[in-house]
Amino acid sequence: MKRILWFRRDLRIEDNPLLSLGGEVLPIFIFDTNILERLQRDDKRVSFIFGAVVKLKEALRQMGLDLKVFFGDPVEIFAYLETLGFDEVAASGDYDAYAKQRDIRVSHLLHFRYLHDTYIFEPKEILKEDKTPYLVFTPFYNKAKAHFSKQHLSAYAFAKDQQLFRISYEGMTVLKEQKETGLPLTVESLGFSENMPKVETPQIKLNRLKEALSSYQTNREYMDKEATSHLSCDLRFGTISIRAVLRFLAEQKRQGVQTEPFFRQLVFRDFYAYLLYHFPYLETENYKYRFKGIKNEVKYDLFCRGMTGVPIVDAGVRELLQTGLMHNRVRMICASFFTKDLLLPWQWGEAFFAKHLLDYDAASNVLSWQWSAGTGIDPQPYFRIFNPYLQSKKFDKEARYIKKWIPELAFVKAKDLHDENVLFEHYIEGYPKPVVRHKEAALAALAYFKGRLK
Ligand SMILES: Cc1cc2nc3c(=O)[nH]c(=O)nc-3n(C[C@H](O)[C@H](O)[C@H](O)COP(=O)(O)OP(=O)(O)OC[C@H]3O[C@@H](n4cnc5c(N)ncnc54)[C@H](O)[C@@H]3O)c2cc1C
Repeated sequence: MKRILWFRRDLRIEDNPLLSLGGEVLPIFIFDTNILERLQRDDKRVSFIFGAVVKLKEALRQMGLDLKVFFGDPVEIFAYLETLGFDEVAASGDYDAYAKQRDIRVSHLLHFRYLHDTYIFEPKEILKEDKTPYLVFTPFYNKAKAHFSKQHLSAYAFAKDQQLFRISYEGMTVLKEQKETGLPLTVESLGFSENMPKVETPQIKLNRLKEALSSYQTNREYMDKEATSHLSCDLRFGTISIRAVLRFLAEQKRQGVQTEPFFRQLVFRDFYAYLLYHFPYLETENYKYRFKGIKNEVKYDLFCRGMTGVPIVDAGVRELLQTGLMHNRVRMICASFFTKDLLLPWQWGEAFFAKHLLDYDAASNVLSWQWSAGTGIDPQPYFRIFNPYLQSKKFDKEARYIKKWIPELAFVKAKDLHDENVLFEHYIEGYPKPVVRHKEAALAALAYFKGRLK
């Protein structure tokens, strides 16, 4: 069997189902120009992926294989590879709209073998009694927990009987290696500039999580506590396997550590991918309410620059712009403020996050934005509106997080940063007054929604 192993969201050799198949194999990665052309030239994700691809190539070489790195339109690349006599292409599932379309087109050229890798459960593994998908998380979670078994932890072994299918790059749009035997490839050869985010290895993150796990449930909401794992971009690009994280949790559980709250978040991630798989239209359309938002470029611009005058919101946006990440609670506060206080279309906010998030994942991002907007499949109602000042008072009492990301506020008393009236009444050099009064904005949002209920 001659097989192309297409690495996408699984940039590692450990516990990778692709490498368990055996036979004559050609491992490949494609820098997809359809995706790249939509990105800023200094996009951090390109550097992150590039680094992971280079490591993967080195690791495969040590195992007697190699990784061919292509640059172009996947369909054109497969049209060429198909002429070389392959029997099939193997890849793990990817559920967003573009990925599905792309894979269908590739499957018209070569037999497409889907492997289950990125999530804990396969999309049709957890269904209701009537075989339809769950719409609400808690019953999904209860069923998932009951169904979860040792099988979901098993690691894929590296097949010993695999040999490299050798090809030359002739006649192709590819990223040529500078030497056939050696690295490096460069980010610049893709037309991007190097902008490597500061991220630790998954192993360092797991080691830190070991310390934080027992208090994860209570601490995860607080922005100034290093309580969460920061594994989201590794899970997104597969630089760690989801099963490796589950085995880590199983080991901690054996040692008596409370692991369920963390497990629940991983199942949340699964649930969002599951919903997008079963209801693909959610990527762009509301599930409930006719809320479309009010397009206002001025408010949108203030939000995107972290200049709304609402400290916790601006701190979150500035963290995102600088690091490519944002604390989960702050993502919720920002998305609520964006869709309710500013009444902007959730799709705009989703696109802004998609542009900057290092861990950007269509399922988690879209479904979380729909949750915040109150338009989603979950029971979250439109009238739940976060008060950003109460949120920051509760979860960033000393305003350490706010001051870290907004240096202009370093000398303002923490309690004043949680008080809308003070912010309206006092001038702070270099920092604007709030763009809206929360109470008035929330009332307007309620009225707006009520007029558009189904
Ligand atoms: C508006 C909004 C947009 C979001 N967009 C994304 C996105 O594009 N990509 C993304 O991975 N997450 C997204 N999230 C979910 C969450 O914010 C991040 O997964 C989390 O902040 C990552 O930090 P961590 O790895 O330290 O999480 P931890 O708390 O350590 O959680 C462990 C893992 O569980 C998963 N997880 C945790 N919380 C959630 C959640 N609420 N929903 C889904 N999965 C979760 C992540 O894979 C995470 O790495 C979004 C949340 C909101 C409110």
